[in-house]
Amino acid sequence: MAKALHKDYIMQKLGIILKKGKENIFQNRHLWIFSGAIASYPTHFENGHIYSVYSHDGTLLGSAYFNQSKSLAGRILAFGEVNPWKSVCTYLDKAIFLRDQFFDLKKTNAFRLLNGEGDFIPGLVIDQYDEYLVLQSGSLGIDLLKDRIVDYLAAKKRWKGIYEKSSGSSRKEEKLQDNIGVLWGEEKEDITILENGFSFKVYWKKGQKTGFFLDQREMRAEIKELSHNKKVLNVFSYSGGFSIYAMAGGAKSVDSLDNSMQATEWAKQNFQLNGFADGRSRFLAQDAFSFLSKEPLEYDLIILDPPAFAKKKHDIIQASKGYREINYQTLSKMPKGSILLTCSCSYYVDEELFQTLVFQAAKMANRSVQIVGKHLLAKDHPVNLFHPESHYLKSLLLYVD
Ligand code: SAH
Repeated sequence: MAKALHKDYIMQKLGIILKKGKENIFQNRHLWIFSGAIASYPTHFENGHIYSVYSHDGTLLGSAYFNQSKSLAGRILAFGEVNPWKSVCTYLDKAIFLRDQFFDLKKTNAFRLLNGEGDFIPGLVIDQYDEYLVLQSGSLGIDLLKDRIVDYLAAKKRWKGIYEKSSGSSRKEEKLQDNIGVLWGEEKEDITILENGFSFKVYWKKGQKTGFFLDQREMRAEIKELSHNKKVLNVFSYSGGFSIYAMAGGAKSVDSLDNSMQATEWAKQNFQLNGFADGRSRFLAQDAFSFLSKEPLEYDLIILDPPAFAKKKHDIIQASKGYREINYQTLSKMPKGSILLTCSCSYYVDEELFQTLVFQAAKMANRSVQIVGKHLLAKDHPVNLFHPESHYLKSLLLYVD
């Protein structure tokens, strides 16, 4: 890192200056700067813009975009003297290259092309669905870079359309409106994708998140291996991802349950698309909590993949109750020798807490439970070793006796 005092540092006009000792954020290659680490902002500061960041003694540390209204005030885009836009382009290229290594498009043509902090660009997610991209901006900083990112990707001539599906809790924290629409190229409401050779229709605009839950691909493949001759219940089934794999694995029957009527319709459609609409399946548009508490649950394999119960740190206690409840209801009624795949995608409920909640549920249900598998991270959801907070999804595969 450059040691000389930089001109704009001396002027204290253009850059952000960190408090003494806080340069370790950059040394550890973490990507977040909390407001408590900041000694001063430049005279003319604008939220969302990119600024150079200096240590207290004038060393240029890198560049980040900032929003003063958040306690997570800055997110780093470049280290040292690297131009921040050049750095963004490099990270985009690296992310594309990584996926090129891992996916055979003839089998799987849908994956997360860029995983935010996990791929070194905080606040940006891009999902690839066949020849289309769906971009999700989670911050003002990324909103302001969006047009340049779209131009950069469009110029690669690899895709036919780039869409935006920017919504969700992180935008609300910055008081940003949802942005949903076509950014570039061909317009399309739904895209048919391939995942491990299975077809799914993805409704990027009407669907949840960017349209499909790509992060469970590996666990869905596990479920296929375990489903032979089993009666399967897929709770929180969305468009039937786990259900299709269970059918392909030779399940006796598969019940898919989701409280969204639309999602169960999409699940039905995906069953037809894969040739599984043969009467072995039920599609239940119902509330999971009441179903699990009322029904006898005579299934050999149950999947619980709920939405994030904790969207904010503040929600942890309420969310814990929710996880404990659905796992308790399920564990207390499953037959002896059955299998439960239980998941949490709440970032604020970490692996240790989640396992504790499942343990409490098993204890309340008075069941003997063994962990026979854990979440398999998908290669398109890399976790940045320097910024492990990008790991949010956990699953426990349990043998219940
Ligand atoms: N397992 C799915 C993803 C699940 S996303 C996959 O692999 O694609 C969570 C789903 O839970 C959403 O489809 C949402 O509609 C559903 N959901 C949310 N609250 C629910 C409730 N109380 N009862 C049933 N389903 C619910």
